[in-house]
Amino acid sequence: MRLILLGPPGAGKGTQALRLVDTHGIVQLSTGDMLRAAVKAETPVGLKAKDIMAAGGLVPDDVVIGIISDRIAQDDAANGFILDGFPRTVPQAEALDAMLKSLGLKLDAVVELRVNESALLDRVEKRVAEMTARGETVRADDNAEALAKRLASYREMTEPLVDYYSEKRKLLTIDGMMPIDEVAAEIQRVLEAVQAADVKAADAKAAKRKPAKKVAKAAKKSVKTPAKKAKPAKKAVKKAAKGASKTRVTKKATQKVAKKAKVSPAKKTKKLAKKAAKKTNEKARKAPVKKQAKSKKKGAKRLTKRR
Ligand code: AMP
Repeated sequence: MRLILLGPPGAGKGTQALRLVDTHGIVQLSTGDMLRAAVKAETPVGLKAKDIMAAGGLVPDDVVIGIISDRIAQDDAANGFILDGFPRTVPQAEALDAMLKSLGLKLDAVVELRVNESALLDRVEKRVAEMTARGETVRADDNAEALAKRLASYREMTEPLVDYYSEKRKLLTIDGMMPIDEVAAEIQRVLEAVQAADVKAADAKAAKRKPAKKVAKAAKKSVKTPAKKAKPAKKAVKKAAKGASKTRVTKKATQKVAKKAKVSPAKKTKKLAKKAAKKTNEKARKAPVKKQAKSKKKGAKRLTKRR
């Protein structure tokens, strides 16, 4: 899973990112942490970023884009990552799109933590108190003055990303004012919904692809067939007509057979007997007349002879 956590300083991005690392087994990529490490190690990037960060400004785009593109390509990010504090400007978001595209990777979601600005100063003050109590070094930008500058940068440079990702249908907005556990549970819920929608979309795509293959196959076949079996139109019409008359004949013959089959053998015998009797009667009726006529002729002959 590849996620972006979006929200103003003190919204709880770092805290929620750590929870996601545990539940999803993916790495947290925080540009703030990387820059702080670079400042500490006094690398060229660190030296460049040190004063800007302390004042609550934004480090130049090319610097952070360079850091992130190196980090995303590392092995531990192959399973997925949570971007915390990056992108912070539209050019950074565009650079990320290009990076992911070139790596053949997809961004799953952008989780925006929405908070009341009035609560942010309280949160930062609380964080400073906790860090001091643990004996940790307090961040150079964790003070009221730097916070005001960071908030102004967020509103001006980072908030346009809400529209940027909303238009890409990637944005999920969560109420960051809820208790930490509830925010975590809500993030989990929306991410599960995103994953379920992805599975559904993948299934639909696979189902669509199958008939498309069939159609392509059929189209291929239909292209081959006429070329192979092409016949002159006249011939084809003649054949079709012949076929049609054949069909009629076959129909007639079938009707005749069916009619015959309907007559039971007993009926058939009766019918034949009736026919034979009629013929015999007719013969019998004709026979005496013939005989009479013959005998009359014979009698006449005899008389003539006698005379
Ligand atoms: P963060 O820990 O995310 O609050 O970042 C601390 C500081 O690091 C910010 O106030 C910026 O000065 C700098 N920084 C971190 N991420 C970026 C970024 N994506 N673009 C520019 N500056 C950044």
